[in-house]
Amino acid sequence: MLLFTNIVSNIGGDRVEVQALFPKARTPILEPRPSDAELISKADLIIVNGLELEAPTLKLAKASKPKDAEIYEVGNNTVTEEQYVFDASFPKEGGKPNPHLWVNTKYAEAYAKLAAEQLTELDPAGADYYATNLKNYQQRLEELDKVTRAVVASIPPENRKLLTYHDSWAYWAKEYDFDVIGAIQPADFNEPSAQDVAKLIDQIKESKVPAIFGSEVFPSKVEEQIAREAKVKTANTSDDDLPGEGSADAMENTNSEHTYIGMMAENLRILAENLGGNPDLVKDLNTANVVGPTATANASSTK
Ligand SMILES: [Zn+2]
Repeated sequence: MLLFTNIVSNIGGDRVEVQALFPKARTPILEPRPSDAELISKADLIIVNGLELEAPTLKLAKASKPKDAEIYEVGNNTVTEEQYVFDASFPKEGGKPNPHLWVNTKYAEAYAKLAAEQLTELDPAGADYYATNLKNYQQRLEELDKVTRAVVASIPPENRKLLTYHDSWAYWAKEYDFDVIGAIQPADFNEPSAQDVAKLIDQIKESKVPAIFGSEVFPSKVEEQIAREAKVKTANTSDDDLPGEGSADAMENTNSEHTYIGMMAENLRILAENLGGNPDLVKDLNTANVVGPTATANASSTK
């Protein structure tokens, strides 16, 4: 996915050519394209989220990868099974935990660290380069973490509740002390039943949340209808699509907001705006990559 491409290329810089398997979130289950087999057949290392998110692609990857290329499930190396979250869209009976670890900045940091380890193993001569990039990138993620805590603190405690269409905030909410009160998208990724919709509307009214959040990747008329009937605001957040135009590859990217950190900054702004917090807290966050064109632009800026 784009945000993994962005995280890995911040570490790999110009020593690594990073290609995205899912350049656009096409379907919630991330079905591979036939052409992905060819891409995989040229890879030295295949990094996936894991936690069952890319199950169909893993199958394809195992069949088409070079013999020596490792498939590395970064999520499975970030949390233990005890830390898995099961919830509305990822129920325990289904056996698939909520895979959205990366929305939690602390886990994104772990992803960056694990990517650096994998790249160093593959290319030991680049060890120092990867370590420097990791250090710089970790610093930037630490800033994001700090801003996140400030934004959360600016939101009135009674509004620190999330009802989203797509169920991607589970691990973020645990880290930053928010309540996920529900998700509209059912486990089978279809639209909810009329009965479920009525229940959700009641739940929103009861919880008194001022807003619910949709997803640009999964536009939903039902989500809009629920917001209308429950008389709350609605806005979109993202767990994959990077803001604006640009490349997810840090070495090619000239848009300093088209990054993982830029995506989270935009999410924080939207949460703050709609839940009674202070969106200005996000303004000075450095969302640029630590390598490539935006890194240069940033170093010479006085911001
Ligand atoms: Zn998602």
